[in-house]
Amino acid sequence: MKLTVELLKEKGALLEGHFLLSSGLHSDKYVQCAKLFTDTALTLELGKSLAQKILSKYKELDLIVSPALGGLLIGFSTALALNVPFIFTERVNGTMTLRRGFEVKKHSRVVIVEDVITTAKSASEVARIVEKRGGEVKGIASVIKRGENGLFPTFPFLLDITIANWRPQQCPLCKKGIPIVYHGSKKLP
Ligand SMILES: [Zn+2]
Repeated sequence: MKLTVELLKEKGALLEGHFLLSSGLHSDKYVQCAKLFTDTALTLELGKSLAQKILSKYKELDLIVSPALGGLLIGFSTALALNVPFIFTERVNGTMTLRRGFEVKKHSRVVIVEDVITTAKSASEVARIVEKRGGEVKGIASVIKRGENGLFPTFPFLLDITIANWRPQQCPLCKKGIPIVYHGSKKLP
């Protein structure tokens, strides 16, 4: 299946407003993938599509790892389509960790799956955890690539969205006096 901006809008996953991103930049759009994943059948289809893209690039894999919470649903559905195990990392006091007895076998071939990749900060932290345990990180895959900076052009993704970001001083919405309603993912209703 092909993920489109229209489908994101239809599912309420592309929000428009005045947003403060975790990077400190302001933006007039925000992607809330969790809204996309409320459609369970669609989430399985997205996993299949991402699995196909992953397979065409990395051939054989042993494990999918995703950072919680954002990567959980798409990581699971992608691993299901690939017929490989799925585990996740989580932040404990801000530090990305692997808990719950999850293991990464030495030399296992791993792809990290995320919902949205902007700077790949979380995915990079997951990669370090996997590599520390002797796994081989083949790549990072995501439902949405939100990079206007051209990062990771070769990694698999389903939809590339360019969303304008501004420093607060340059933000046209601030200049118009429009208040910031949402503050990144943490304070979304
Ligand atoms: Zn602003």
